[in-house]
Amino acid sequence: MFTNQFPFFTNKPEQVYLDSAATTQKHQSVIKAVNDYHCLSSATVHRSAYAIANEATLLYEQARDSTAQLINSPTVEQIVFNSGATESINTIASGLQSHMINGRKILILASEHHANILPWQQLSKRLGLSIEVVNLSAQGQFTQPEYDAFVKQLNTNVAILAMAHVSNALGNIYPVAEICRLARQRDILSVIDGTQAIAHMPVDVDSMGCDFYVFSGHKMYAPTGVGVMYGKSKCLEDLLPLRLGGEMITRVSFTDAEYQLPPLKFEGGTPNVAGVIGLGAAAKFLTLNILAIQQHEISLFKLLSSGLEKREGIRLFGNVNACIQYKGKQQSQHSADLALGHSIGLQSFIFNNHHLYDAAASLYQKNIALRVGHHCAMPLMNVLNIAGTMRVSIGCYTTEQDIQRFLQALDNTLAELDQNVDCRVSLKPKQ
Ligand code: PMP
Repeated sequence: MFTNQFPFFTNKPEQVYLDSAATTQKHQSVIKAVNDYHCLSSATVHRSAYAIANEATLLYEQARDSTAQLINSPTVEQIVFNSGATESINTIASGLQSHMINGRKILILASEHHANILPWQQLSKRLGLSIEVVNLSAQGQFTQPEYDAFVKQLNTNVAILAMAHVSNALGNIYPVAEICRLARQRDILSVIDGTQAIAHMPVDVDSMGCDFYVFSGHKMYAPTGVGVMYGKSKCLEDLLPLRLGGEMITRVSFTDAEYQLPPLKFEGGTPNVAGVIGLGAAAKFLTLNILAIQQHEISLFKLLSSGLEKREGIRLFGNVNACIQYKGKQQSQHSADLALGHSIGLQSFIFNNHHLYDAAASLYQKNIALRVGHHCAMPLMNVLNIAGTMRVSIGCYTTEQDIQRFLQALDNTLAELDQNVDCRVSLKPKQ
């Protein structure tokens, strides 16, 4: 759809890129903003008053405005820049003060990324909390039965709910607005990992009512090494900073320090100025185009998942048919969210008769870039009783032709692998 606005595809026309959940290609406005900063106003921010330093600070703070707009943050001060979702969740888990933890359990979903498991493990060990897991179906689905069980779990002395808005391993879209409402009623701190949602659907943190919402720039057409931690004002005020150093203080002695107000309290050290400016450009691009992008990706996802469903010997995971299951049942925000259950253009699957890595190696040779493995969700793979999946994921630049080329390449790959299997069988000694 926007393919010609991404220079990567002009330079690599032969490449079918279906790994946008791992990282996205960069939008031309992002590349230009980063380049202009380096060529025209390269200086650090918030420290000096000469002209290019002021210019750099202005660009950096304009990026904060654009990011606040993208997620409808009530104020710009609630947008903290850092290196990405991993740093955000580490900051939250390490900085919670005891009065922010009203309960004994940390509730996470079975499909969480390691970045949304490990920091909680460390916190639970440090404070003697327990981690409880919200289950999915054997196919990795989250539909009404799993939702109902989840709501019961929320009633059992939960202090923190940490979950993804969209699963990077399954593509499930979780009904976070409704879940955050339930969390608020129970005084549970909600931490939503929006890394896989931010480039695919409108995100409104104000109406969602989450306490924290985090994401990474490189999954939304911006550079690597930059990301965002949004928090409610009171949560940011109460949270202790993780990165201690230059510029995040108002006063320091050898034994004590007074921190700046958020967001600067969390931005110690020289920030990734170029990355933040690039992220600001990506936020502007998404704010303008997110509805069109969502529609485009939903139609490509249908083509992809129905194409895979039609082929024999393939087992799909995640809320593949949630759209169908919940059609006509949209009275509440909850069912409306579930109706969207799976439409961001990410499909995980395995083969009944072939190894994932054999298939991937053959697809790579055909210029198809996709991902196989556990997708940093090893506990989920154990729950599903599989070693990993093949994951196809799309972005706003993906075309119908990309999906057709992938499906054709997959057919050829499976035919080649079938032939190899036949060879191996024929080599077996006769009984
Ligand atoms: N959460 C999710 C859902 C992700 O997909 C990823 C990246 N794969 C992360 C967290 C971690 O993001 P980063 O490595 O950019 O910090």
